[in-house]
Amino acid sequence: MQKEIIIKVSPKEASSTESIKQIVASQLDIQISEIKAVRIVKRSIDARQRKVFVNLTLNIYIEESEPETKFEEIEYKNISEAPQAIVVGCGPAGLFAALRLIELGIRPIVVERGKNVRDRKKDTAQVSKNNVVNPESNYCFGEGGAGAYSDGKLYTRSKKRGNVDKILRIFCQYGASTDILIDAHPHIGTDKLPGIIERMRMQIEESGGEVHFETRMDKLIIKNNSVEGIETNTGKIFVGKVILATGHSARDVYSMLHEQKIKLEAKGFAIGVRVEHSSHLIDQIQYHNPEGRGEYLPAAEYNFVVQSAGRGVYSFCMCPGGVIVPIASNEKQVVVNGMSASNRGSKWSNSGIVVEIHPEDLPDYAKYEELCMMKFQEDIEELTWVKGGKTQTAPAQRLVDFVKNKKSDDLPNSSYSAGIVSSALHEWLPEFIRTRLQDAFLQIGKRYKGFLTNDAIIIAIESRTSSPVRITRDRESLEHFEIRGLYPCGEGAGYAGGIVSAAMDGERCAEALVERCSMVSSCL
Ligand SMILES: Cc1cc2nc3c(=O)[nH]c(=O)nc-3n(C[C@H](O)[C@H](O)[C@H](O)COP(=O)(O)OP(=O)(O)OC[C@H]3O[C@@H](n4cnc5c(N)ncnc54)[C@H](O)[C@@H]3O)c2cc1C
Repeated sequence: MQKEIIIKVSPKEASSTESIKQIVASQLDIQISEIKAVRIVKRSIDARQRKVFVNLTLNIYIEESEPETKFEEIEYKNISEAPQAIVVGCGPAGLFAALRLIELGIRPIVVERGKNVRDRKKDTAQVSKNNVVNPESNYCFGEGGAGAYSDGKLYTRSKKRGNVDKILRIFCQYGASTDILIDAHPHIGTDKLPGIIERMRMQIEESGGEVHFETRMDKLIIKNNSVEGIETNTGKIFVGKVILATGHSARDVYSMLHEQKIKLEAKGFAIGVRVEHSSHLIDQIQYHNPEGRGEYLPAAEYNFVVQSAGRGVYSFCMCPGGVIVPIASNEKQVVVNGMSASNRGSKWSNSGIVVEIHPEDLPDYAKYEELCMMKFQEDIEELTWVKGGKTQTAPAQRLVDFVKNKKSDDLPNSSYSAGIVSSALHEWLPEFIRTRLQDAFLQIGKRYKGFLTNDAIIIAIESRTSSPVRITRDRESLEHFEIRGLYPCGEGAGYAGGIVSAAMDGERCAEALVERCSMVSSCL
């Protein structure tokens, strides 16, 4: 017999199958020997009260053995003789689009400007070590996209836009721990993601698809308002309908589309700084315990949203036990974000704290039309580079000093490997951002005692929170409004905001492309 029950236990009890069995036996009033297996199907931490609990949803197998499989694997058939479609970009949106095309019997030709995920790592190391940013291979560009060297948090609020569980199962099929299927806040970690991504790409190739690295799409070939293929920097031309999944950092793609008079929209995004505390302090605050997280709890997370002068200010991409990384995708930019390994074991916890901004906040940029937000983003990243000393060193300030408009005399250690330099961020951040950030830190400090401390620092600039441009598409067909056969996809097109939502959008675009082509003869 199989039963599902929910129990609320201490972190220590949750860590031991024997303890769980004992609790279950007493709750069901059965002998412990009758329980043949216990499978955790959902796990979440409840740290709202002083005493921290773990909620477990369990499948209990009573006098019956546990089924072997934890999830169903997808069988990808050979499509080497099938009609082809082009996927530009090998981030989560592009990868999942390509895999879905294979499932649906189409041969994906994936074109990626960056290097494969292993070679790419050498380029990301160069940013910290030698201040060299390779504009084609960095934290934003290359196999796996922006999601490869990231935190690998896999939760999304856009659950209605696709099958989250399927995306997680595919990650498991290629090597992710099945813990991601049960945790309320699933997380893979930057040490595990590259291997998983590599195996997904190998699947695409084994099934008969193609993946071309170091191949940048430079132009869409459009005839009679219909996409016929792409031109690339290698001179190769690829023919087919196009899923355009180039991410939010490919400014040359937005400029190229603008020049080709393809309809775009300026899109609001969020901008701010990354704040870093010791992970022990965050554990103390979030777990209400001066001892910190103890032996059985993971590094604590937080998630803040406050309002300031009519705009949301919120924590973004929080990385417990993580590090801050330099994610510039070109010279003359300093941009930060965070990542963490699977054990979330670093002594720091960081998060973006960002302010929503909209085109109306930037009247001086109106002349740039659809690219106004992108131009502002570009300018503030360059200003940050100047303030940091024209290297990848990032300008930083102690948190309380920032709130009090005081330049920091010195700075605490930070995880940011390219180095930090003291800078009066309060003097040069645009006022509509600075005042809201200061107000938000005061509000957060009141709510979470200990957060507003001068042992914490803020580092500029957190500006790649989402796309500054939307590549418009039809809600139903997902095709571009004016250009047939062009499927703007993922975060760069403005339809996703994280690994899972980008992956789901990739699947949806693949489905839309195949559905449209099944209606139109000789479409592919
Ligand atoms: C450091 C960091 C940490 C992050 N942490 C998380 C996290 O923990 N959880 C989460 O959900 N999200 C996280 N994100 C965000 C997440 O990575 C993105 O939302 C996601 O990767 C978007 O997927 P995408 O496929 O739409 O675009 P991208 O991942 O940006 O992929 C776009 C790809 O297109 C390629 N490309 C661009 N232009 C061209 C061209 N002209 N020709 C060919 N190829 C091109 C790029 O090289 C890139 O590989 C993080 C991002 C960063 C930078």
